[in-house]
Amino acid sequence: MTANPAETQRWLTPKSPLTGETVGTVPVTEPADVAAVVARSREAFADWGSLSHRERKPYLRSFAKHVRLSMDRIATVVTAEAGKDPGGSRIEVVSGLTAIDFFTRNAEKILQPKKGTSWPFVITKGWTEYHPMGVAGLITPWNYPFYLPMTATIQAITAGCTVVLKPSELTPMSGQLLADLAIEAGLPDDVIQVIHGDGATGAALVAADTDVVTFIGSPQVGKKIAAETAKTLKPVVLELGGNDAQIVLEDANVKNAANAAVTFGLFNAGQTCTSIERVYVVDDVYDEFMEEVTRAINRLTVGTKDRTDIGPIISPPQADIIEDHVADAVAKGARVLSGGSRIQMEHAVYFQPTLIDNVDQSMKLMQEETFGPLVPVMRVANEEEAIRLANDTSYGLHGSVWTRNRARGHRVAAQMKTGSVAVNDHMINFVYPSIKLGGIGDSGLNGQLGEEGIKAYTVHRSITSARFGPTTKWMGAWLPRRVGNRWWKNLARVLFGWRR
Ligand code: NAD
Repeated sequence: MTANPAETQRWLTPKSPLTGETVGTVPVTEPADVAAVVARSREAFADWGSLSHRERKPYLRSFAKHVRLSMDRIATVVTAEAGKDPGGSRIEVVSGLTAIDFFTRNAEKILQPKKGTSWPFVITKGWTEYHPMGVAGLITPWNYPFYLPMTATIQAITAGCTVVLKPSELTPMSGQLLADLAIEAGLPDDVIQVIHGDGATGAALVAADTDVVTFIGSPQVGKKIAAETAKTLKPVVLELGGNDAQIVLEDANVKNAANAAVTFGLFNAGQTCTSIERVYVVDDVYDEFMEEVTRAINRLTVGTKDRTDIGPIISPPQADIIEDHVADAVAKGARVLSGGSRIQMEHAVYFQPTLIDNVDQSMKLMQEETFGPLVPVMRVANEEEAIRLANDTSYGLHGSVWTRNRARGHRVAAQMKTGSVAVNDHMINFVYPSIKLGGIGDSGLNGQLGEEGIKAYTVHRSITSARFGPTTKWMGAWLPRRVGNRWWKNLARVLFGWRR
């Protein structure tokens, strides 16, 4: 007897981290059903992928306009399922619009064929073309439930791909809204589809007949996905966790650096991949820095009201990890100067803004991603020690250097083993669409944003075209076998001997 589909259908009912109330309901896509969704995406690709950039542009502009006009609607959903304050939710919309605007305006330019230099093959022209790969499978986390799905989606569709998006099971409503907005804005059916479920649905999307997979999430899951995509050598973009270092040199504007440690360490309650997770301050300015950072952190408020600074822990089990990192540090000799504990307020779990000193590299909070509102600060002797310790981690997502001497800042930035660095700023790269954001080591592979980001959704097809007939016409098919050593030497001298 076949089961009634209505009876077997499972549902996700995400809960507000603030109130515990159900914020919506979406159907789970069972792993066995993912292939059919991908097949629909492939059908949609036949049309969408064959449009020129100019033909796609009106759809993308309409999408951008509709997202802009729907800011309140989007922010309401993000706040409901991620517990963010209204400003924290709106920043996701504006950052998303920044990405839509950049890729809509620049896709054609970035993806125009790139000419190769023909020397010494003067009889042959060569160039690279960028063709959409096909169906992109996108898997995203819960910490920026609208912005992250939007950036990945916009790069894929401006490149000409169609999208099957699986948002986090904790925050599925924002991803669903993204697809709904696309339909309302007039994008063709199935160019953006959303599937819902946990890791099993995500794993099915990776294994399905997708042409490229983008995963934004933890290194643990990212490595599983890399192992799966390796089986078929499917291209994969992995945007994983971070353990960002902030380096404060003796010539820094200490007040700016201290405010940044607090702002970019604790923004979104520390639940950002590019949060400051470790601070290295050169001895000469250490005391001044600690005074400023203490003042800044003690001003912060925790709670749910508008204009509070520290919102809830979106995924409550994360609070156990934060607590464990603090306990481990204290057991190894660290001092908690401010905060240090979780707070339960009605339904919501918060973590106090926490300042810690006397830390060293052996502690979990210096080696692993805490993903919470901690600012661990370490005194270092000089620039060299700061760079060495900043690079002493398996992660390599982002970092920052603080100095009044910009040339020095750029020199130090070049020595950091991360995919991106900010000088006298932090985290800005996370929303800066024209240059790449991508980690190395445990922080990921390939990356998003910038030319590289959109090109990740394209096949780079190299074409050569004979100007005056085939090579064989000029060389004779068997010439390489017939001429002697001397001929090859003379050829090399004629072609390259005059170069210095
Ligand atoms: P996660 O890895 O637990 O889950 C991310 C997504 O993967 C979810 O949609 C989940 O359902 C899915 N998933 C889980 N197991 C899977 C599997 N086996 N196959 C396929 N999909 C699977 O991450 P999270 O807890 O949701 O997010 C927090 C992490 O994301 C942090 O490490 C954070 O640093 C990282 N992150 C990185 C960036 C970046 O741009 N580098 C941005 C935001 C968050």
